[in-house]
Amino acid sequence: MSLSDRFGVGPGRHRRHAVDLLEALPAIDAGVRAGQSARDVAVFGVCGERVTLARKWGRFEYENPHLNSRRCERCGWIVALHHHSIEHEIDYYRADPTDRALISGGGHDPELLPNVLRAVLARHQGETLDRPEAGLVSDLLAHVCRHRPIGVICAGCWDGGIEEAHGPGVTVCPQSVVACWSCTFVAGAWAGEHEDTIGSAECVVAAPCSVLTAVATHHHISITAGGFDERR
Ligand SMILES: [Zn+2]
Ligand SMILES: [Zn+2]
Ligand SMILES: [Zn+2]
Repeated sequence: MSLSDRFGVGPGRHRRHAVDLLEALPAIDAGVRAGQSARDVAVFGVCGERVTLARKWGRFEYENPHLNSRRCERCGWIVALHHHSIEHEIDYYRADPTDRALISGGGHDPELLPNVLRAVLARHQGETLDRPEAGLVSDLLAHVCRHRPIGVICAGCWDGGIEEAHGPGVTVCPQSVVACWSCTFVAGAWAGEHEDTIGSAECVVAAPCSVLTAVATHHHISITAGGFDERR
């Protein structure tokens, strides 16, 4: 089994996790031989959460469309540290051009999150585990990534596009906010098709939140943008 073949996808209660197939497949086979049905055999994500193995969902890799949302941050970092695909994992959390414009429009550095991740990695160099399992480094990186800044545009922009909502030539929604993805109250399954969107305007927490700024301050990383405006 090659390195990239090693991890399957296991949906858990909310997130989609990486399953170490070197352990899960023999465990499932043994359970079936002992008379259990395959789905009754306990399978765990590498982060430790109980999951079911989604065999038809392919591998836990960046190109997998099943991981476009709800990809477990802890599993992502465990696999990235194990695969030495650190730059790819940092890139995965890099803000897209729209979010970058919103973040720098608010006076913050869109490179804050990548800079913080690199500083944590440098501080803990050589401390990663041999086995693909949760440890201090992967869990701390995942904690930081859960508090990533997310640009939230207004409903008009969402429905009709920015020029339609705010007039010709406007490139950044004037009602947009940059929110912390984890601190902000996000709708659960009760919201139906609106699950995973902002749950209520009562609890929108601006990014960078104190989790990001605490780690940045600890590592002497500047939070404000470096004096240029990416909208130009
Ligand atoms: Zn996980
Ligand atoms: Zn936060
Ligand atoms: Zn707007």
